[in-house]
Amino acid sequence: MRQATVVFDFDSTLVPRESFTSWVEERFRDQPDKAAQARAWTQKGMAGEVPFQEALEAKLRLAAPSRSDLAALGEQCARELDPALRAWVGELARRGLELHILSGGFALSILPSARILGIPEDRVHAVEARFDRAGRFLGFPPGEGYHSSKVAGMRKSGLRFPSPSLLIGDGATDRAVWEAGLVDHFIAFTLYARRPEILRGDCPEAPDLPSLQALVQDLLAQKDPRP
Ligand SMILES: [Mg+2]
Repeated sequence: MRQATVVFDFDSTLVPRESFTSWVEERFRDQPDKAAQARAWTQKGMAGEVPFQEALEAKLRLAAPSRSDLAALGEQCARELDPALRAWVGELARRGLELHILSGGFALSILPSARILGIPEDRVHAVEARFDRAGRFLGFPPGEGYHSSKVAGMRKSGLRFPSPSLLIGDGATDRAVWEAGLVDHFIAFTLYARRPEILRGDCPEAPDLPSLQALVQDLLAQKDPRP
């Protein structure tokens, strides 16, 4: 069995939801106007009508999360990890595979899950936020980064994954990393969210955990995953 780098998306891949978006919706449970605005920004962002960063900033202005809100969301996400997926990722780590998380979500909300999965903090590549001393959100680091896109974040930080590298994700932003040549393989994991626009017949689809495990096994056994 060969060595490989396995890179996981976070939202709707490792956890069964879009973490920050669902937090915003929960926050506005009793404010339907604001909830509708937040949903509209999510839709526009997902459909590519506005840049990812613009939709994210609009939701941040609406919901104003604090540092502790994002950390608490992280603890909640860690509790939602599917036990079977958690066991499998742990097994991959024990086999010595290099595991990473690459996400357009907040690092603060991902780190508790990474700890449970045995993925070191320096292999979590996600949105860094700046806060004031009271923990209020101030903004993003200057310039481009994971708040702009996964590709922009990887380029800014000079991140390269050792080959063969495999990205597992559900979204257009994941597919874009593969299309940019920043990973060798891409598996569309559609258990939690199936987005037809990323399925173009040129990458394998895993609709559930057993099929994902089989595809990863193929890769490790030197058979490149095929659609
Ligand atoms: Mg995702």
